Amino acid sequence: MLQQTQVATVIPYYQRFLERFPTVVDLANAQQDEVLHLWTGLGYYARARNLHKAAKVVAEQYGGEFPTDIEQMNALPGIGRSTAAAILSSVYKQPHAILDGNVKRTLARAFAIEGWPGQKTVENKLWEIAQTHTPNTDVDKYNQAMMDMGAMVCTRSKPKCSLCPIESMCVSNKHGNQLDYPGKKPKKAKPVKETWFIMLHHDNQVWLEQRPQSGIWGGLFAFPENSDADIEHALELRGIQAKHIQAQKTLIAFRHTFSHYHLDITPILIDVSQQPNVIMEADKGLWYNLSQPEQIGLAAPVKQLLETLPHEL
Ligand code: SF4
Repeated sequence: MLQQTQVATVIPYYQRFLERFPTVVDLANAQQDEVLHLWTGLGYYARARNLHKAAKVVAEQYGGEFPTDIEQMNALPGIGRSTAAAILSSVYKQPHAILDGNVKRTLARAFAIEGWPGQKTVENKLWEIAQTHTPNTDVDKYNQAMMDMGAMVCTRSKPKCSLCPIESMCVSNKHGNQLDYPGKKPKKAKPVKETWFIMLHHDNQVWLEQRPQSGIWGGLFAFPENSDADIEHALELRGIQAKHIQAQKTLIAFRHTFSHYHLDITPILIDVSQQPNVIMEADKGLWYNLSQPEQIGLAAPVKQLLETLPHEL
């Protein structure tokens, strides 16, 4: 219950839960609906489902007694390596190292371990350090102290180093770069997409079409787009025949960046001899006069291209 949830919030839920399910077998015999009902308001319902599943395994496979072997404990639904170690060290004083988020932060700072702990190699290094330093005696007190130290002393943004019992041996404290540890999750490289803008030009006007309301540049005006350089079909759709094309040139490609991807845009400027009829009839497009611009919403790269267009003509 305490995962991601504060103690004060948990207490009444914990009391009601234990009143209704005083033993693991009582919990195992309950209907999932009832378990979830008693959890209502606590959130993260996977915890309740896992707790219930784990109770069933304990009741059915271990005769209602929790296993005391770390591998068996680790295999219970919802229990990972660190939680299994925390339970067995605090209840049975078995000498297992723990590595929850607080301990990871403390160890990463104390030993200046580079890299993001979500990465297997970094996590393995932290496990190694945790195991090396976990004592065989008083392991319950040591593990509790490690968790409390991370939660209260070696805190995320303002570690209280002057109160820390390992201040003198802490490498990051020595270098004054405590907040560089643990390393941040690497940002994913943004994917790159490509598109071709078809800039139909005639008599100091360019053809713009209104974008659908949903999706990028929703409702704004932009040049017709094509997914590759082969624009014949896109021209056909707009009633442009080869005989209408007076000149065609590919302009310098440029990149427009959205929050979630880069869009590489290659503009193709086409001078047409006339405004084709089909375009004249289209109600979602317009011939945009470069000398007397309409007051319409323009997609940012379109605006940018319109500003440089006079130099290309
Ligand atoms: S000295 Fe500071 S940074 Fe190092 S472990 Fe202690 S609280 Fe964390």
